[in-house]
Amino acid sequence: MKKYGIFGGTFNPIHYGHLMICEYLKEELNLDKVIFIPTGSPPHKDLYVSAKDRYEMVKLAISSNPSFEISNIETNRVKLSYTVDTVKELKKIYKEEKLYFLIGLDTLFELKTWKKIEELSKEIEFVVALRPKYIDIEEINRELKFLQENYNTKVKIIHTPLYEISSTELRERIKDKKSVKYLIPEKVVNYIKESGFYKSEL
Ligand code: ATP
Repeated sequence: MKKYGIFGGTFNPIHYGHLMICEYLKEELNLDKVIFIPTGSPPHKDLYVSAKDRYEMVKLAISSNPSFEISNIETNRVKLSYTVDTVKELKKIYKEEKLYFLIGLDTLFELKTWKKIEELSKEIEFVVALRPKYIDIEEINRELKFLQENYNTKVKIIHTPLYEISSTELRERIKDKKSVKYLIPEKVVNYIKESGFYKSEL
């Protein structure tokens, strides 16, 4: 049976933290591919970079990796999309494959706030990328226990290195005219420069 990783995010913009954990998780889980799913219009984030542009940036970032794909399943929707609906739709497309939902550690602590997390937990197993040295394992175990007991959420933990970067920080750096070289793929940096993104506050 083929195994696919699903990696959802705002990707505003995509950075090497995203790409590196996907590559690691792909190897550790023996995935056949990882499908990147940029969000359409997320409920909580005010975005002035359109879904189309965030999609384009992800496409550029993954273009040299044959195991990485992108899906427009969320960016093509007019209405807000919740992960539970996306995963159900993906499972109709990939009937024969085993799907995993890949996340970073910060997202593990947000899962309990996700819409219909109980229903989503029936559909898919989560995989968290974790750096072993810099974590409070007890806090993580408490969270895993909470998710398991309340929503029957299945979570696999996989150790990866950590690039301590976030899109928020990168947007700030661009606004402050600081370098993002080696933090964001060069093709994406050029796209951002040409489009003039992130130069000013929202
Ligand atoms: P923002 O700062 O705008 O919230 P972000 O950098 O956290 O953005 P998202 O697009 O929100 O990026 O994240 C998509 C997924 O990538 C989430 O599961 C998140 O936990 C994970 N992620 C983000 N940055 C890193 C990183 N540096 N290392 C590992 N995982 C990450």
